[in-house]
Amino acid sequence: MPELPEVHTTATMLNELISGLTISDTWTDLGGKTHVGKDHIKDPKFFQKFRVQITGAKIKNVDRRGKNVLIHLDIGQTILVHMKMTGQLLYGRYKKSKVVSTQSKATWEAVSPVELKDPFSRFVHFVISFENGRHMVLSDMRKFAKITLLETATAHLSGHLADIGPEPLEESFDFKKFQTRLFTRPKGRIKQVLMEPAVVSGIGNIYSDEILWDSDVHPLSAVSKIPEKELRKIFASTKLLLKKGIDFGGDSMSDYRTPIGTKGSFQHHHQAYHKFGEKCAKKNCRGTISKLKAGGRTAHFCDTHQECYN
Ligand SMILES: [Zn+2]
Repeated sequence: MPELPEVHTTATMLNELISGLTISDTWTDLGGKTHVGKDHIKDPKFFQKFRVQITGAKIKNVDRRGKNVLIHLDIGQTILVHMKMTGQLLYGRYKKSKVVSTQSKATWEAVSPVELKDPFSRFVHFVISFENGRHMVLSDMRKFAKITLLETATAHLSGHLADIGPEPLEESFDFKKFQTRLFTRPKGRIKQVLMEPAVVSGIGNIYSDEILWDSDVHPLSAVSKIPEKELRKIFASTKLLLKKGIDFGGDSMSDYRTPIGTKGSFQHHHQAYHKFGEKCAKKNCRGTISKLKAGGRTAHFCDTHQECYN
């Protein structure tokens, strides 16, 4: 699942690629009866309205909040995309297949750049066509992504964004703020608490493993039992590793691709995540990377240098 560095990379690149472009049409095959009444494009009526509203609009700019990509339009509306598990937002030339019979459904295929032909990127379920002949598409194997339309001025108050915790990379996010947010879940295990969007936004399974390895704290430590000195290390590692993830263009160990279909490279810099059985790379540590299940997720950690506080 894309985490903050991946969503940040997508939003930053899309901002460069699609700002100023005019929308000529939009298409989806995600609609269905089971989604009637929902406030996103999987409800066929919502999509009809969405299509009318955004056609002819121009992209002002693209940014993000938490793991949500926000595409701001010049009509006071914002398209919100949450990529969820396997969503990718891609930009390039695509062609639509011809519908040959009533049974066959239209599909979209990448033309250029060639990187968009990646097998992980062939699940196109949503398309925005631009007047320049190019397209922004959502490829999403699992089809869990969410796309909706919000009033730009009040978007942050909507149910889609209102409960998201502070942005860890903002300068105003200092240690005091971090500590206060963590202590809203004093009995929680540190890995799970770090991954809660309402506590800190944008941290998932990969970065939480890496942050805790880097700060020498065991993932099952109880928040209230971790000494302040160690909490300060977790805080510093959070900023450091999220920035590092952005510098490497995100993590493409799994589905994630940048908007031009290329891979990020943070996966080549993992110290804990999916390193089960390998020797720990920490200086002077002779431990091995171990793993355990907690709260339905797998935590990877060093069995030696990561202290458990309980
Ligand atoms: Zn170690």
